[in-house]
Amino acid sequence: MIKEIYASQVFTDKTMKEYVSPAHIEEYHRCIESGKSLPMETANAIADGMKKWAVKMGATHYTHWFQPLNGGTAEKHESFIEPDGDGSVIMEFSGKELVKGEPDASSFPSGGLRATFEARGYSAWDPTSYAFINDGSLCIPTMFFSYSGESLDKKTPLLRSMQALNRQALRVLSHLGDKQTKSVTPMAGAEQEYFLIDKDMYLLREDLRICGRTLFGSKPPKTQELDDHYFGSIKPRVSAFMKDLETELWKLGVPAKTKHNEVAPSQHEMAPIYSDCNRANDQNQLTMNIMRRVADRHNLVCVLAEKPFYGVNGSGKHNNWSIVTDRGENLFSPGKTPAQNARFLTFLAAFIGAVDDYQDLLRCTVAYAGNDNRLGGNEAPPAIISVFIGDELQGVVDSIINDSSYSGTTVKPIKVGVDSMPLIPRDTTDRNRTSPIAFTGNKFEFRMPGSGQSIAGPNTMLNTMVAEKLSQFADALDKGEDIHHIVRSELLSHSRIIFNGNGYDKAWLEEAEKRGLSNLRTTADALECYLTEKNVSLLEKHRVMSRTEMAARDEIHIEKYCSVISIEANTLMDMVRREIIPAVSLYQGILCNTVSGRLQVLGSDAPDVETKLCKELATYNCKLSQYLAELEKKLESAPPATSYKASRYYREEIFSLMENIRKVVDEEEKLIPDKYWPYPSFRRLLFSV
Ligand code: ADP
Ligand code: MG
Repeated sequence: MIKEIYASQVFTDKTMKEYVSPAHIEEYHRCIESGKSLPMETANAIADGMKKWAVKMGATHYTHWFQPLNGGTAEKHESFIEPDGDGSVIMEFSGKELVKGEPDASSFPSGGLRATFEARGYSAWDPTSYAFINDGSLCIPTMFFSYSGESLDKKTPLLRSMQALNRQALRVLSHLGDKQTKSVTPMAGAEQEYFLIDKDMYLLREDLRICGRTLFGSKPPKTQELDDHYFGSIKPRVSAFMKDLETELWKLGVPAKTKHNEVAPSQHEMAPIYSDCNRANDQNQLTMNIMRRVADRHNLVCVLAEKPFYGVNGSGKHNNWSIVTDRGENLFSPGKTPAQNARFLTFLAAFIGAVDDYQDLLRCTVAYAGNDNRLGGNEAPPAIISVFIGDELQGVVDSIINDSSYSGTTVKPIKVGVDSMPLIPRDTTDRNRTSPIAFTGNKFEFRMPGSGQSIAGPNTMLNTMVAEKLSQFADALDKGEDIHHIVRSELLSHSRIIFNGNGYDKAWLEEAEKRGLSNLRTTADALECYLTEKNVSLLEKHRVMSRTEMAARDEIHIEKYCSVISIEANTLMDMVRREIIPAVSLYQGILCNTVSGRLQVLGSDAPDVETKLCKELATYNCKLSQYLAELEKKLESAPPATSYKASRYYREEIFSLMENIRKVVDEEEKLIPDKYWPYPSFRRLLFSV
């Protein structure tokens, strides 16, 4: 059954063979491998094959499916129909339409790259990711760029970064004696966490509906303390959703592999089998779309916000990353022979050095309003970047760094490329849950990305940073330097980024500061580092992004950060002013009635809890109305969302005031019976399914 449906909605190589002649397929593969553009004749043949297949599958439209800078996906559907001259239609789709499209770029963020009079954005087919059918449309994965050729999307830099990594890794491999490997590819496997909330309940929360997360709500007496959800069985309604989801994903060729409950009530996870970064990214985008759609069918809402419920475990998207050769060898697999040891340690050192050199840039890739609510919380990795490698590998690293000259060492020093290494255990996951980046046997797990974000950004940077390190190594090797020396001095100068301890521990903050690691706590802090000369030169050097492209992204990041906080602040004001304050007043009225009734019946000596409660609520409500006035004023005098000054202002002035308001509202909520409280509580939301 699975075998039959798997990838049935995808125009795979196998399907292509049924619809396109072998000569054209051969030409197509030749072009992909060499990076040459496709001859029009071949493009036409493939377009025609795709159309025939899609129409047979019931599709009526095609769309260039792309990934604008807002982090989602966009599509503009065109039907296949062409008038036939006799009042009827034929189904048409040409190579030109396949290869290049022109959706209107004016409504996608472009950060000033596209002058307002020039509304054209172009999309170009990405033949390295399969076309698929979704909701009656043939979706063609595409890149999206401006008239002048600057990328306006997340896919283009990702593809460029994969090429950069390939170029530099091949140089190093060749120096290490590997002349057979023709290409290397960075791989990604994105574990997707999410919440499932009953739709009826969800619709009652204005904050969830408008902002995707709750803006207040007090923590129920029990959430995840007993871990009973994590280990518990999957509830029937959730299980039905998961089965449905898997089927949809399988049809689209997304290799959904594991599913389980997560830590918080109503929280779950889906992990696919990894693939190359480009496809993994496309598939993750598709997964998020399908999750939302399938949830709706089950009268559920799939919440992908990073921290939908304050005080409750947030949702991340662990990005597992490795580099694999065309011969299927994972370059992060610790080997058994001296040659394998040399390769592994070289790539390990490159990774460690890269993360240390570009910690701020990597931090930037996960910096946005939603993730600020999660990073640094007690269940998410801290905002400080470090790498966990585990005790066994630490031993190896130490022995290289310390060399034989180091007195007092009991370990025999390991010579890169000469010795074999001790066995490194495959899975050390249990011991490093607090680390933002952990080595897990043959890959690095980057745990800072948030559940709702695109993995394109983080992978683009990982690829490029490591490419840069490898290029430095290759340059040194070109000059005749010895690999042991290169690895050793890299590990020596960057060992500060390695941390195997508990990242939640307060002591780590101090320790990290002593080591000189950057601690960019909020998005406002991180944004300011994005355009440093060091970062811009990195991306320029490897032709991943130009200065202009980065500046455009910088603008978009700032604008988006400010506008998310502004929308949240306005929603909060609206909810507090129109629903919460009045509801509390109403309840106070009831309490007052009780008090005056009691006075009449029992006289003033009777014990009274209502008066005290009533006064307490009055104080809270007064406080709230003061805060609201303040917030309103602050929003009015906010600087335009175009500078770091603005992102700082939104964080320090607006967001912190919202936090104060939340605290007061949460106190009120604790004192008011459900039936007088205008919104469903966390208790009801989280235990609704
Ligand atoms: P855990 O929760 O223990 O970290 P999961 O099975 O939930 O493990 O997820 C691990 C993810 O890592 C999966 O998506 C898997 O396909 C991916 N993965 C495994 N090996 C590699 C690799 N070499 N490169 C990239 N991703 C990988
Ligand atoms: Mg997992």
